[in-house]
Amino acid sequence: QAKSLGRARYSFFHSELNSRRQAHLELEHQLGQAITAGELVLHYQPQVDANTGALVGVEALVRWQHPQRGLLYPGHFIGLAEESGQIAEMGVWTLHEACRQKAEWKARGLDVGCMSVNVSALEFRDHRLLDSLQSALTDNGLQPGELEIEITESVLMTETDTSQRIIERVRALGVGIAIDDFGTGYSSLSYLKRLRPNQLKIDRSFVSDTATDNDSRAIVRGVVGLANALSLNVVAEGVETVEQQAFLRETGCHALQGYYIARPMAVEALEAWMADRNNKETTA
Ligand code: C2E
Ligand code: MG
Ligand code: MG
Ligand code: MG
Repeated sequence: QAKSLGRARYSFFHSELNSRRQAHLELEHQLGQAITAGELVLHYQPQVDANTGALVGVEALVRWQHPQRGLLYPGHFIGLAEESGQIAEMGVWTLHEACRQKAEWKARGLDVGCMSVNVSALEFRDHRLLDSLQSALTDNGLQPGELEIEITESVLMTETDTSQRIIERVRALGVGIAIDDFGTGYSSLSYLKRLRPNQLKIDRSFVSDTATDNDSRAIVRGVVGLANALSLNVVAEGVETVEQQAFLRETGCHALQGYYIARPMAVEALEAWMADRNNKETTA
């Protein structure tokens, strides 16, 4: 009896694995069509000046409006897109769409500040990145300084020579470079000296503990100090409470991003958010 139970469990486990694999393959296949079908959308999350609250930039975050499964977040499909190589096509689309939107806002007199776009490790190592950046700018009539790419530390630590060459060319182009999730990657900081990014984004894991944890507070203070010493801009990610905001202001952190300020929003919602803030300012 025990044996048959074991076998039943085994086959249950086995079919579970198979169906998960099946779902995975299906999603991969659907993702291939999602771009041409217009199912990918970008949401935009505000980054504000820590002291004045002025909007200084927005980060473009990709979502997939899946016809059956609803709105999917990047955690559900970026890994898949990287495995299958579809990230290349997705990255080009994202870059062009973000720049198109920025240009449209500009034409309508809406100033969202700098447009930040996430670039994954695979896209970063692809020599076509430079061409994509260039064409996204020229196709939409944007200045290079209006665009910034976000890359994680791990990208810089592996293949350092290649990274360095690409970074130098991105910098020469005039497009900004932000180090995303700063503090979670390798701790060697020598790359900061060589690669000179424009901005550090303090990972939200440090920010979230600042109300209760002295170590996290020390780390955040340290990162802000480091950024100031190197003349880099510093943004805190994942600001969720008024206490965190107060602490970050006190440290001299330049900009804030997080649910406490605003969630990532679809285009219309972001425009409404901006209009609402303008109203409050003029009536205050
Ligand atoms: P990230 O670049 O570090 O983006 C920040 C993530 O934190 C976003 O999740 C955002 O919605 C979330 N977030 C922002 N404020 C808060 C907060 O106060 N609290 C909490 N708990 N979360 C907050 P999202 O949109 O799910 O994106 C996850 C990751 O997927 C991004 O992390 C980025 O690495 C990647 N990603 C997003 N869009 C793209 C894209 O277009 N291309 C590539 N290659 N990667 C992308
Ligand atoms: Mg990011
Ligand atoms: Mg981040
Ligand atoms: Mg991240």
